[in-house]
Amino acid sequence: MNSTKPVVPEPLADETLSSWMWRVNSQIPIISHVRFSSPEGEIKNRDSMELWAERFEDRDLLNENVYVELFKKTFNISQSWLSERFPEFSRPTIPTQFRRAFCSQCFMASFEQVGTPISKVQWFYLTKPFCDLHHIPLHDSSIFFINHDDYTIQAFVSYWDEPKFKENCDAICDVWRMRNSLALKAQQRLHKLTRLASKSGQSFNVQMFMVTLMRAMMSPALHHGYPRIAFHHWGGSDPYAGLGFHGDFYQEIYRSTSLARVYALYFSAIILGWITSEQARKTLHEGYFSPWSTDAIWSILDKTSGILSLLFSELKLYETSYLNLKSMEIPKLIRIRYDA
Ligand SMILES: [Zn+2]
Repeated sequence: MNSTKPVVPEPLADETLSSWMWRVNSQIPIISHVRFSSPEGEIKNRDSMELWAERFEDRDLLNENVYVELFKKTFNISQSWLSERFPEFSRPTIPTQFRRAFCSQCFMASFEQVGTPISKVQWFYLTKPFCDLHHIPLHDSSIFFINHDDYTIQAFVSYWDEPKFKENCDAICDVWRMRNSLALKAQQRLHKLTRLASKSGQSFNVQMFMVTLMRAMMSPALHHGYPRIAFHHWGGSDPYAGLGFHGDFYQEIYRSTSLARVYALYFSAIILGWITSEQARKTLHEGYFSPWSTDAIWSILDKTSGILSLLFSELKLYETSYLNLKSMEIPKLIRIRYDA
């Protein structure tokens, strides 16, 4: 009887599982009043739940989405068909309760192609705050993915309807053009390194080395170097609020805005020597208070109690021949003190 089963639309390149499932269900309804998940309240509550190690189901993972079995039966699709199209994430990701980044140009392109905006997996990756395809910083929706089954539609509509939202997105691309371009190059360089490292099974460590640097660069001691707009809607409708030393270090990267991740990547690239102080100095008109040399960044971090010992102990866990402390330019005294 298989021939009578409806033909399921193919997912687009890099489309997320939940985006595809919502799209299929809107064309061929098999679940009425779909609830893939339920709202968990404001992000602050979710923060504290996460700090207490609460686990949130990830509806973009095949083994965590409860509706996958129903789709398999209805459309007669196999596990291997699904696994091929929706592989496991290949990079450290933003946890499901904090996801809200999107690329407006990708939304537009998919809207033209299939009549619905779609979401992409690459937007979850912590070390990819730029769209791979359009090379623009991702935007942060005021709509949270976890609260809406039709997240892509809601985010698309809010992009057009919310006062000044689109204008702010355009401004981010224009005002920080030079820094965006340097940070994008760092994202691309890391991507290449990660692919190289995957041959020896070290891609996770390469990614985590960068994530760890980015965590340190998000420390409040460096916030004066970020554009103010990077702190808008940090953690949903709540204003920015610190979570305490360890909470800040580990959590901020997840709930931060995409622009904050752009800056964390930018400063990490300076400290790695990927962006020279000469290049960074030329961008000062895009933000006069941003540190532009490795020495300046190390000295700011050195004045913040606890951060360097935490940073070095974490970085040592993820050293590889691709990214390591030895090849970084670290002031001698700091190197001796932390045995780096
Ligand atoms: Zn895009």
